[in-house]
Amino acid sequence: MYDVIIIGSGPAGLTAAVYTSRAKRTTLVVAGVLWGGQLMLTTEVENFPGFTDGILGPDLMDNMWKQAKRFGAEMIFEDATAIDFKSKPFKVMVGSKAYEGKSVIIATGASARWLGLDSETRLRGRGVSVCATCDAAFFKDKKAVVVGGGDTAVEEALALSKFVREVKVIHRRDKLRASKVLQERAFEDPKIDFIWNSTVQEILGKDRVEGVRLRKVHSNEEFELTCDAVFIAIGHKPNTEIFKGQIEMDEKGYVITRDTTKTNVEGVFAAGDVQDYRYRQAVTASGAGCKAALEAEKFLEGI
Ligand code: NAP
Repeated sequence: MYDVIIIGSGPAGLTAAVYTSRAKRTTLVVAGVLWGGQLMLTTEVENFPGFTDGILGPDLMDNMWKQAKRFGAEMIFEDATAIDFKSKPFKVMVGSKAYEGKSVIIATGASARWLGLDSETRLRGRGVSVCATCDAAFFKDKKAVVVGGGDTAVEEALALSKFVREVKVIHRRDKLRASKVLQERAFEDPKIDFIWNSTVQEILGKDRVEGVRLRKVHSNEEFELTCDAVFIAIGHKPNTEIFKGQIEMDEKGYVITRDTTKTNVEGVFAAGDVQDYRYRQAVTASGAGCKAALEAEKFLEGI
């Protein structure tokens, strides 16, 4: 029986693990087969405070893990397959094995949606990105393309326009889904242009992005565009499948938290991208992980 079981091992989960294990609470991190979260898919991280020259995403996660381990946190590199929040202690199943915890922190994150093109996978980290806040600075005075028409796509375009020479937003319809205020800001920005009713068929380039091949939705006509970066912004999917029916979620599947990180089940907390679609930064996820750990500590103390 553990004091705290943390499901997920991105910045939220591992920061929570540092705090709970340092507070001498027995801590198990069910890290997942692909541990470390979205930062494992990035290269240089330049905006996590404390690293003057930046740090590679996987190195940052490795450091967080070593830090948690130093204080005694245990980690299993398997996926949680089911949970039971109705029983006390709570149960977290990993295959046929059940782990018991007096409290649980959900930190399973969210996954960016991808277009599903081979060229997109091949050029990921070589000009293809899902985070302008993370990567825009690498494309100073270059040409960038953003795919999508929601708040994220427009925010990505606005973030990029501070660095790049031009941004073209490629949207599959002729109307944006983004909020009016963001739309207006983008329409007024001289560096941002829109290519409507078009989809990306292929991202061009051998070792790095050199352009995109697009198709007009109505005529099927194809055309190419040169660019140095492609930012995919077609939404995220919270990783909450296993919590369905056990915990309150919104209509998109994000865990609903109140009073910072508390869920509707007493003793179960949530932190990071699994409950926050707005900021989605490593540092905000870490902050939330810290809050969840402190809340779990209070719960265990009976305060
Ligand atoms: P979203 O609202 O679901 O928008 C996704 C966009 O991508 C849509 O325009 C959609 O096109 C397009 N799309 C989806 N699949 C596609 C595909 N396979 N190929 C091409 N285009 C595709 O996602 P989001 O923008 O990430 O926002 C998610 C939630 O977070 C929303 O509730 C949003 O309001 C919120 N959010 C808020 C803020 C803020 O308040 N500042 C910032 C970011 C996000 P269609 O329009 O044709 O469906």
